[in-house]
Amino acid sequence: MKKVFYLILLSSSIISCLKNEPKTLAESEPIAKIDQDVFYHYSIWEAFVNKIYDGTLKASELKERGTIGLGSYNALEGELVMLDGILYEALGDGSVIVVNDTTKIAYANAAFYKEDVAFKFEDTYNYEDLRKELNLQTGSKNFFYAFKIHGTFQKLKLGGVPKQEKPYTEGLDVLIPNRPVFDKENITGTMVGFYCPEFIGKINVTGYHLHFVSDDKKSAGHVMEFTNASDLTGGYKKISKYQFDLPETNEYEAVNLEKSFQYNKK
Ligand SMILES: [Zn+2]
Repeated sequence: MKKVFYLILLSSSIISCLKNEPKTLAESEPIAKIDQDVFYHYSIWEAFVNKIYDGTLKASELKERGTIGLGSYNALEGELVMLDGILYEALGDGSVIVVNDTTKIAYANAAFYKEDVAFKFEDTYNYEDLRKELNLQTGSKNFFYAFKIHGTFQKLKLGGVPKQEKPYTEGLDVLIPNRPVFDKENITGTMVGFYCPEFIGKINVTGYHLHFVSDDKKSAGHVMEFTNASDLTGGYKKISKYQFDLPETNEYEAVNLEKSFQYNKK
């Protein structure tokens, strides 16, 4: 009887240890915090190219992953620009709205922006000049960089996205060359975006990718070209960590990632 009692006691102690150990470990861990030095990426570029135009990421969730960002909303309803933690949507008709927290995102890049290096460009620039200047400023092409650049642009060409209806029939390789284009003149605003090394090419846009939102928040979109930029001030943050989340959808699960596409860069 005594033996049985000890056996039960021992067994219950072991069970108690087994039960308690993971709990104790979990309790001793600090509450997970978002790493603010990570390049955050939702979906992957080749999924987006291959007609995965719907994601499950909500605007509120992207805001937890950064203060600046770019991308597109579900069904390519509009281009995404995040500036100072506010998410804007540049619609196909050229208008701009602030999105609500439940709006779904198909594709996004984001980062918590904190300037490592500030710069001011005295001369006037076009996009090609800016790329060269940013190459000089940043140095190594083997890291990621986040940018925030404010200025006035005599001419600025912004790209939008054409809203799609299901079933989606065209990939980005077809849609981008035929995207809505908005020509702006004497416009002041902020460009936010990223540089990604060539090695990330199947996952993300390589090189420089910038989106713009005007100071009056009436114009926004993908920066295609500009001329005679003045009073360009800004900076960059160098990033060495990268994280992406894949869309948990039936469409992504089944997609054949057969098409490749990258923006033309000079
Ligand atoms: Zn873009």
